[in-house]
Amino acid sequence: MPWSPWLTRGLVKVQMKSWWTALLAALAFCALTAAPASAASHILGHDLCHAVTPVAVPQRHALPPFQCSGKPENYQQASLWLRADLTAPGLDRHDLTLMMHNSRFDRLLVGFLYTDGQIHWQQIATGQFGAHWRAGGQIVFSAPHRDAPLQAMMLRFDRLTHYEYLRLRLLGGDEASQQATVLATAVGGALLLLLLGAVYNASLAFAVRRQFPAWQAAWAACMVVWGLFWSQLALLIAPDLAGAPSAQICTALACLAITLATQSALTALSRNHLPGWLRRITMALGLGVGLIGVPLSVMRSGPIAAWAGVLDGLTLSTLFAVAVCLTLAWRRGSGEARAFAGAWIVPMVALACTQFLDMDTLLWGGGAQMLVLLAAAWQTLWLSVAATHRFARIRLERDRARQAAASAQDLARRDPLTGLRNRRGFVESAETMLDTARAEGSPLALLLLDVDKFKAINDTHGHEAGDLVLCTLARRLERWDGAVCTVARFGGEEFAAMVAGLSGLPLLHFAENMREGIAQCDHGALGMVTVSVGLAELSADATGTFQSLYRLADEALYQAKRQGRNRVVVVQTPGEPPEMERQLILS
Ligand code: GH3
Ligand code: MG
Ligand code: MG
Repeated sequence: MPWSPWLTRGLVKVQMKSWWTALLAALAFCALTAAPASAASHILGHDLCHAVTPVAVPQRHALPPFQCSGKPENYQQASLWLRADLTAPGLDRHDLTLMMHNSRFDRLLVGFLYTDGQIHWQQIATGQFGAHWRAGGQIVFSAPHRDAPLQAMMLRFDRLTHYEYLRLRLLGGDEASQQATVLATAVGGALLLLLLGAVYNASLAFAVRRQFPAWQAAWAACMVVWGLFWSQLALLIAPDLAGAPSAQICTALACLAITLATQSALTALSRNHLPGWLRRITMALGLGVGLIGVPLSVMRSGPIAAWAGVLDGLTLSTLFAVAVCLTLAWRRGSGEARAFAGAWIVPMVALACTQFLDMDTLLWGGGAQMLVLLAAAWQTLWLSVAATHRFARIRLERDRARQAAASAQDLARRDPLTGLRNRRGFVESAETMLDTARAEGSPLALLLLDVDKFKAINDTHGHEAGDLVLCTLARRLERWDGAVCTVARFGGEEFAAMVAGLSGLPLLHFAENMREGIAQCDHGALGMVTVSVGLAELSADATGTFQSLYRLADEALYQAKRQGRNRVVVVQTPGEPPEMERQLILS
């Protein structure tokens, strides 16, 4: 994956700060965003009067007798009527908007009752939210402006699943539209981050073939889909899912997300850092949350609160188990656990906040779900940075290992005394040159250079002086080393050169140049050191192998020695008649 190093470094620095900084930041965030609702907004709750009638009877204009004490009962298969008398101080009764979170019901009618006795009704039904939905899971009803102020508001829910889960707020029109805009922006931002996290982690999983980023990608993708349904943005493409179906899908996805997040946390920690039983228990808890999402998402009536209670318990147990896993792995020296703790702390605090704080007005009315969505975006961003950091380190280590392997390979092909290629390195390069020459039909020749009477140098001046001579000759030979000429110390006091692109007389001149250049080397008191050169050319039909070429060059070298040394002798490749053999004796 490409990434800009400075960004990685910067983000990694942030990640490396201890995770309690994140905890403090999350708490501060909660405290700031949990600021009290403005004077104009009013939460409708237990101050509502209620009535329960059979569905759609009586008709909406005929209001039932309301009861203003106790809780409504037996409404899941009926119509639940709620009435709010708009008498609270600070309410602008000429400009009111009802904002509520999506919940599970078949139909909702909202009636605004004015002081002159008129009632204006608005309604939505499953799959028919019209222009009443806003991003952030909100449904909005604005009271039409009239000269008479509002007196009360009526709501009729048909087949409402749970009264306790209703979150109704009254706001001024301006504040409602402001909140809706900010909420839509925040939702869009969080979803975009999650989507990027999902794509990034998926490509990471693909690139490094690890389980953890795959689970992380699945989790982030699940949160994106959940966010699309919870925020109702999904209604842009599937308006029929408005209302209860969206809420049901959300329940299933929320449970699935917890299962995936648990898997992601567990697969990030190596097996050495976590006892098997703890891993299995945590996995089972996570799986339990996912499974309980199935009945909870299809239920429209019955003991839904009891199931929700079980889900809450399981979710908290899963979070606790994951926290224990992370702590244990961290204490056992797991770097992943450290990164994960930093990522999980915010969603954990967010979830804890939803249990212990009143969240209805939090985050521009987005409530607990909005907090969870933002926390999830934070988590995926954090983990992506942590994963980038980890894989960048792995990549660095891999590059170093490759470099080491390459230099070891190179060392194995170099002669330690002179630094030239050794026999193995030379044969490999020569084979490549041979292949090219065969493919292109271009000339190629092998030169074997043997130092004349080298033993005498050793015997007279010592082995070290002999070594020095070999090094001096190697430095001189190196000058010819390049794209068309490969030189090597073939062994002992014998050198070799493979020359491409030259043949005939130009090749002989080249060999002569080499011989003369070597003879001109300054060896101080040792005087002149010469070489004999055996030269073999690849046949024109390019049938020769390296071995056959070597045999010929060796034969030519032997002849050069026999003919008095310090000379070049050349032979043609096999198949050529002996009379083609040429000699060039220049000294
Ligand atoms: P000729 O002209 O026939 O090639 O005579 P020569 O003395 O060069 O040939 P010979 O094969 O008799 O001797 C080669 C000597 O090279 C023998 C060996 O000790 C010496 N030699 C081989 N490798 C090294 C080395 O790495 N360093 C030194 N100093 N001497 C070496
Ligand atoms: Mg020799
Ligand atoms: Mg020799």
